[in-house]
Amino acid sequence: MATNNKSIDWQFTGSEAAKEAAATSLGTYTSSIYALCDPNGKPILPPRSDNLETSHTAEKAVVKAVLCGTGNAYSPSIGVPAAKRAVAEFMNQKLTKKLTPDDVFMTVGCKQAIELAVDILAKPNANVLLPSPGFPWDEVRSIYRNLEVRHYDFLPKQNFEIDFKSVREKVDENTFAIFIINPHNPNGNTYSEAHLKQLAELAKELGIMVVADEVYRWTIFGSNPFIPMGTFSHIVPVVTLGSISKGWNVPGWRTGWLALHDLDGVFKNTKILQAAREFLEINSKPPTVIQAAIPDILEKTPKEFFDNRGAFLKDKVEFGYSKLKYIPGLTCYMKPESCTFLWTELDVSSFVDIEDDIDFCKKLATEENLVVLPGIAFSQKNWLRHSIDMETPILEDAFERLKSFCDRYSKASLKVVN
Ligand SMILES: *Cc1c(COP(=O)(O)O)cnc(C)c1O
Repeated sequence: MATNNKSIDWQFTGSEAAKEAAATSLGTYTSSIYALCDPNGKPILPPRSDNLETSHTAEKAVVKAVLCGTGNAYSPSIGVPAAKRAVAEFMNQKLTKKLTPDDVFMTVGCKQAIELAVDILAKPNANVLLPSPGFPWDEVRSIYRNLEVRHYDFLPKQNFEIDFKSVREKVDENTFAIFIINPHNPNGNTYSEAHLKQLAELAKELGIMVVADEVYRWTIFGSNPFIPMGTFSHIVPVVTLGSISKGWNVPGWRTGWLALHDLDGVFKNTKILQAAREFLEINSKPPTVIQAAIPDILEKTPKEFFDNRGAFLKDKVEFGYSKLKYIPGLTCYMKPESCTFLWTELDVSSFVDIEDDIDFCKKLATEENLVVLPGIAFSQKNWLRHSIDMETPILEDAFERLKSFCDRYSKASLKVVN
């Protein structure tokens, strides 16, 4: 017998607890801008690729784990011992104060490592210093956990170094950590040893820990070498976050880690270690098959794999950077030495009919089928992040579209027409 379901008073509704946090997620911005592109028009750029290429070493390591059955069981909540040992050994290559496998926790990508860092530290009334601009997941999680977010700034004209003055101004007695990203997405720089040491000393003076997101440590092509923040764990307690997502081009494999570089037992005494274990107990784990492959992936991937990737990206950065010179209204302060983007400041006043970065990106997607992300997605209004991770002919097409769009809306070119 048919009943009219509309008349039933259902006793359930969806929770809105994640609404505010989700609105600031990068995925929300990305999909809303891609949705403005016309699928029947010019090819949509950057192409949304389903098959990324990784190193054969990583592929073979996963196949081996599958065939040998070493990755079929449940993983311990803190991670597979062989994976933890491999991460510690890998990181120790550049550290004098060594990590033990017990200091390492395996996570579902670097994102879960960020979640863990926020979750184990969040307390009522606490606040955290996050970079502006910065990768939005820290922000998303902090909002979700009701942590107060305070942004510190950078010095674009000094190679995007951290503005220590802004750090000092934002800290109070409820601040527990400064989060940094090194190499920095989206600024594209890598911090020098001297700069990181200064940061460690400042953090010590302020009584806060440093949480370093080093997910891009393999994606480097400038002259500045990568220095891990853990180098300074004799000065200040450091938490390092990482994953294989960016270095091996396998974000879908969802495997990362969080490492605690303790300073004289501080993490133990302040129950940070215990909290990490407890939060991992109630969270999901990275796939055991990938964890089982981690030792081979970290130890056996040839240096040429990263060198080739770096050379490819350097070439694209040079190309994009040279094209930007002829595009009005966008300023790139520094040629990136890491990551896969150009980060430019948008001078809204030099355009007609462009309200802000979001408006720019929406119109660009609608008119040119080209996706550039608005700075506000990285908490920096009126900046833009341009991907350069594509073959040169495609990149050339992308920059031609960008140029013709900017020329069309530029006040300067309108004057010429009149
Ligand atoms: C991509 C990215 C992450 C997320 O890494 P996953 O391993 O995919 O979770 C974290 N931090 C930064 C700076 C990133 O660019």
